Amino acid sequence: MARPTYSARVIVVHKTKLGESDLILTMLAEDGSQLRAVAKGARKPRSSFASRLELFSVADVLCAKGRSLDVVSEARLVESNAGLRGDIEKTAAAAPITELVERTTQPDLACPNLFAMTSTALTTMSESDVPYAPSIAAGHLLKAFAMTGVRPMLATCAACGNPVMPLNDGSLAFSPREGGVICSHCRSHTEAGYIDARTAEWSNFLLRSTFSDIEEARMGVREAFSVLDLCQRWCIEHVGCKLRSLSFLFTSGLYETN
Ligand SMILES: [Zn+2]
Repeated sequence: MARPTYSARVIVVHKTKLGESDLILTMLAEDGSQLRAVAKGARKPRSSFASRLELFSVADVLCAKGRSLDVVSEARLVESNAGLRGDIEKTAAAAPITELVERTTQPDLACPNLFAMTSTALTTMSESDVPYAPSIAAGHLLKAFAMTGVRPMLATCAACGNPVMPLNDGSLAFSPREGGVICSHCRSHTEAGYIDARTAEWSNFLLRSTFSDIEEARMGVREAFSVLDLCQRWCIEHVGCKLRSLSFLFTSGLYETN
């Protein structure tokens, strides 16, 4: 008996080897839920899947329901985002985007707008100049946190809601556990670290801007990395994991932060 099939537009966010020549694909579906399916023979040199189901690419897939895992039977490439695989700096900057999506999405749990936002981020980065790739990644991570219900508060105190002023040295108290920046009054009874006030300003800018505006802002790598560091702390607290690809980006030396 033929198994039921379904079609979906997806972004490939993770690939795992299976057996001799197959791949298990983790994909973000258009409704923001996660799909996992096997692409049989995808690692064979002449497989037609290989070029259509690359990491970061957008594709239309036809899948057959399986007992444990679904099976991809057809795939049509929609947007290759080849620029993200063409040079290692962009690959490294795009990896936290797909890692966070893989970590935060679940089967059958819709997340409106996550697909469109992720697709725009990847395409913008694919076509952007290398130095602006980290700012696009930072914009995506912050927007993804907001869409999954854990938006950091960066202008008003996360504990009391009052406006927050930087300290004399330009720093702001920041507590991922409390949910954002902390005012001087609440600081005494809150466990908080510190961030540069400009990191909070950049984060606010990234949260409210389109990706083309983010690219045009020509944010420095150092500033983008400071926001990405905030994102890593945020992820540990609210997603429950450290993004390995972000740790790699920080230590790889691929980007000049001076
Ligand atoms: Zn407060």
